[in-house]
Amino acid sequence: MTTVDLPLLPLGRGTDALSERGVDCPGDLPAPSDPDLVARARAAKEKLGDRLFVLGHHYQRDEVIQFADVTGDSFKLARDAAARPDAEYIVFCGVHFMAESADILTGPDQKVILPDLAAGCSMADMARIAQVERAWEALAAAGVQDVVVPVTYMNSSADIKAFCGRNGGVVCTSSNAEVALDWAFQQRGEDTKVLFLPDQHLGRNTAVLQLGYSLDECVVWNPLLPNGGLSAEELAGARMILWKGHCSVHGRFSADVIDELRAKVEDLNVLVHPECQHEVVLKADLVGSTEFIIKTIEAAPAGSSWAIGTELNLVQRLANAHPDKNIMFLDRNVCYCSTMNRIDLPHFVWALENLVEGVVVNQIEVDPQTEADALTALQRMLDLPGKSHRD
Ligand code: SF4
Repeated sequence: MTTVDLPLLPLGRGTDALSERGVDCPGDLPAPSDPDLVARARAAKEKLGDRLFVLGHHYQRDEVIQFADVTGDSFKLARDAAARPDAEYIVFCGVHFMAESADILTGPDQKVILPDLAAGCSMADMARIAQVERAWEALAAAGVQDVVVPVTYMNSSADIKAFCGRNGGVVCTSSNAEVALDWAFQQRGEDTKVLFLPDQHLGRNTAVLQLGYSLDECVVWNPLLPNGGLSAEELAGARMILWKGHCSVHGRFSADVIDELRAKVEDLNVLVHPECQHEVVLKADLVGSTEFIIKTIEAAPAGSSWAIGTELNLVQRLANAHPDKNIMFLDRNVCYCSTMNRIDLPHFVWALENLVEGVVVNQIEVDPQTEADALTALQRMLDLPGKSHRD
């Protein structure tokens, strides 16, 4: 059994083991019960004016999203940030890897701020750079590394993106995973294998349902086991080496709830994100990114019924915005992304009021070498031919 160097609390950076939640907020964090929080946020935002640009991910709480200058998925938001070079402060209401991507794509003088450093991503944390480097060495020892192309989902840390940049790989999003995998499989001849990080479900769903590979050609690399838990034969026969990672939100949806809802609701449309398990995706009517889900609901006819398998804040917001459609959540239980929900109004106000005072808190900075290597992988993605039909 190999030992694993996982830190005790891998969410975000700058952890403080003595604080209850793992991170410290220097100064006074406003009380959640403060009735003036909305007014304080509004006043601070007004004072900062054009120096401030607030990005809000679709999965954020309404109390925060109301202050976002733009909303979107992680990649759209990073690009939106890059399109505002005049903004001195980019406050990212999202999670840590998203703020890193924004830092990579923005200028050296722009400061990217994550209001709560505990807003990590459990999926991104499932692939640590030391684990991935060890896997890469194991693939070399197994004699297959020279035909392996690493592909990482946007939902990964900057150092995993940089690893892909250094090793001939690429970044992908849930919108362009098919195009990115297609590109990757052409890079090392007909024997090319892809090491897909860190979401096994997006990798499997894309390889099998969009590129036509069989489930037998997809193997799962478990970083906690020697050689990923794979035999030499399994590795030799694989085309997709899927990292054993998943989204703790999308991984919850189950195929039996789809059956249950279909039995209860006539003409139900099931719409899910490709981070869902393969059995769930197989039973869905439509599969696509958060942007695709939003556009699909906007275009849906009045009176139509939809069960949606993605984060609950977004599903609730869609239901509120489209009262003429019957929109329901594809899980029996509440299913928020707990780390996304760390960004609340008290942290948002705290971050903005500090900026008004000239104090930059919770800045997310990627070191220059990691940034350069990650940019290589991101640029390969931007250079991919065409666009996915799910853009
Ligand atoms: S929804 Fe899933 S992938 Fe997105 S931030 Fe939360 S844990 Fe990470």
